[in-house]
Amino acid sequence: MIGPKELPREIAPGVFWLGDCLEQRANGKIYHTYNAAFLLVGNDASMIIETGHPKDFPKIEQQLATLKKGLPPVKYLFVTHQETPHAGGLGRILHRFPEAVLCGDISDYHWAFPQYVHRMKSLREGDELDLGGRKFVVVEPVIRDLRTTWWGFDTKERVLFPGDGFAYSHYHEDGHCGLFAEEAISLDIPEVSAVFADRALFWTKFTDMNLYVNRLQYLMDKYDVQFIAPTHGLPILNPKVTLPKIKEGLLFGSSVPESGTESDPIHTKPKKVFVKEDD
Ligand SMILES: [Zn+2]
Ligand SMILES: [Zn+2]
Repeated sequence: MIGPKELPREIAPGVFWLGDCLEQRANGKIYHTYNAAFLLVGNDASMIIETGHPKDFPKIEQQLATLKKGLPPVKYLFVTHQETPHAGGLGRILHRFPEAVLCGDISDYHWAFPQYVHRMKSLREGDELDLGGRKFVVVEPVIRDLRTTWWGFDTKERVLFPGDGFAYSHYHEDGHCGLFAEEAISLDIPEVSAVFADRALFWTKFTDMNLYVNRLQYLMDKYDVQFIAPTHGLPILNPKVTLPKIKEGLLFGSSVPESGTESDPIHTKPKKVFVKEDD
């Protein structure tokens, strides 16, 4: 068995996985999930994709420092949507990298960071950023958490950055931390996808996920995606092997009822119900 690995890890040439695990309690067990960030390195510019959970900033800053020597300056920060696990480090990244321009849907950020308004660039599907030798393209967000979500794609290594798509937890006890999806052989992707659907993508229980699974395949084919860098799941290096499991996970997660509330044992005991009888 491959043991846990430390981040950063290079997913594909010039594409680095950053971040740290977050504990998630469900079904009486402790699951781990990622709120990852990525560094995409071109010949002229580097780009940070997602910011990590607010608690992860010191770690991500440290991981970036180990990589940054000799790399082109961070000129862009792309965030898939405004939710805290994706955007919570935004102010600190813009402060730490004064050349960086925030890209993507920029709704509402000006309220929180009026001092950085001149460093925000609105992008939508089809817009491109040239990093030198590779382009970052904004693509259709097939599975979205917020209305403002966008996904990204690296033209050089054909890496998809799908934010909340491909979202699933991993087993800390099995040493999955820092592993790629194909290395975590004991991971039951349908089960951990269902856990994530409960916690973060609850709408998937009220819709026909076959439509989304088909659209996901359309996007994979359209861009000839070779690698997938999800914010919450483990990076996928072999979509041919892993994509069928993800599809199964999306369909399974949407088909089962919610598995329970956060599993603090006091709160998971059935509550006594007192019924006042009418006389
Ligand atoms: Zn998310
Ligand atoms: Zn972990």
